[in-house]
Amino acid sequence: MTESGPLENMLAQMEQAREYVDIDDGIFERLKSPERTLSVSLPVRMDDGSVEVFDAYRCQFDSARGPYKGGIRYHPNVSEEEVSALAGWMTWKTALVDLPFGGAKGGIVCNTKELSDNEVEQLTRRYTEGIRRMIGPETDIPAPDMNTDERTMAWVMDTYSVYQGYAVPEVVTGKPPEIGGTDGRVEATGRGVAITTEETFEYFDTDVENADVAIQGFGNVGSVTADLLTERGANVVAVSDVSGAIYDPDGLDIEDVQAYVESNDGRLEGYDAEAISNDDLLTLDVDALIPAAIEDVITVDVAERLEADVVVEAANGPTTFDAAQILQERDVPVVPDILANAGGVIVSYLEWVQNSQQYSWDVEEVNRDLRQRLTSAFDEMLGAYEARDIPTLRTAAYTIALERSADAHEYRGLFP
Ligand code: GLU
Repeated sequence: MTESGPLENMLAQMEQAREYVDIDDGIFERLKSPERTLSVSLPVRMDDGSVEVFDAYRCQFDSARGPYKGGIRYHPNVSEEEVSALAGWMTWKTALVDLPFGGAKGGIVCNTKELSDNEVEQLTRRYTEGIRRMIGPETDIPAPDMNTDERTMAWVMDTYSVYQGYAVPEVVTGKPPEIGGTDGRVEATGRGVAITTEETFEYFDTDVENADVAIQGFGNVGSVTADLLTERGANVVAVSDVSGAIYDPDGLDIEDVQAYVESNDGRLEGYDAEAISNDDLLTLDVDALIPAAIEDVITVDVAERLEADVVVEAANGPTTFDAAQILQERDVPVVPDILANAGGVIVSYLEWVQNSQQYSWDVEEVNRDLRQRLTSAFDEMLGAYEARDIPTLRTAAYTIALERSADAHEYRGLFP
């Protein structure tokens, strides 16, 4: 059986929530289709003088609640279908945590490991030129995602600003603090995942102290999550990257793992701990499994063998729709991506607000606001889950997000 891809998953998740909310048919149809997707092809002069052409997209899914918001990813698997799904998830995420934004996502089909820094810069600038007519501080505000970071956002901000003729820091979030970024943004997604995991443990009466956690993915999100959960007393017993997974039943020394990865070209491979496969990691008997890498890693096959007490989705779309049905049957709760990884976009919002006010907050203020927004969204999700007798946390989260988005469409009406 081939399982559905991200867009089908996202649409099926919406359909599943629909029976618990009263949404007009026409509005629901509208919510299922992205407003627009721009597809661009980007010729780039490579270091050897040749020209290579890259395909790229920006999908603007919905803007009823505010400007489109969402990251830009660089990955060989980027496709129009994938960015549409991710833009949809951004729409539900910003609605769930009640930010005045819609949802968008962009991506370039490329493998950054095969490109020099200069080539990545040229590609980023060309992409920004390609989408600059559709982005802007009041229309669509990009941010980092897989394989993009502060450095990338600085190039986007610079290219956009050069065309405008003046500096426009608020056109992107996730910038370096030196040019208008906020303190706390780099760690924000991982910090949000750690906060959500703590809240989840509390809800299910699990003590975070000595809880066993397995994290798939050791990029920005996975590694910050590992760090913060270790600080809270949890045992991070396994982490992984594309080169494989490492396991220590007594808990890994995360600082040591981070130092090793830094000295080993960004790879975990060769670290002095038991080597296991990514599949072994996903099926470990732990208190929480945190997939923090890519989509569709928890398949039906994995879901049937999964032994974690709870799954906290740090990645976007890590569980296929069919796998989620199996986990539901097996009573394994899944804290959905649109809540668990919302820390990134929450702090993006705080960055954008600071930019609009030409004012900056200290990191304590940013982290306090992040925690408050995330925990109140978590409580709202639980409120819907319990009050409406909804079968899963994801469906409960979707009912809130869909209702908010549908209300915005209802109030705004149709024009022209
Ligand atoms: N790429 C992140 C996400 O998937 C952050 C998006 C943003 O900050 O706009 O939520």
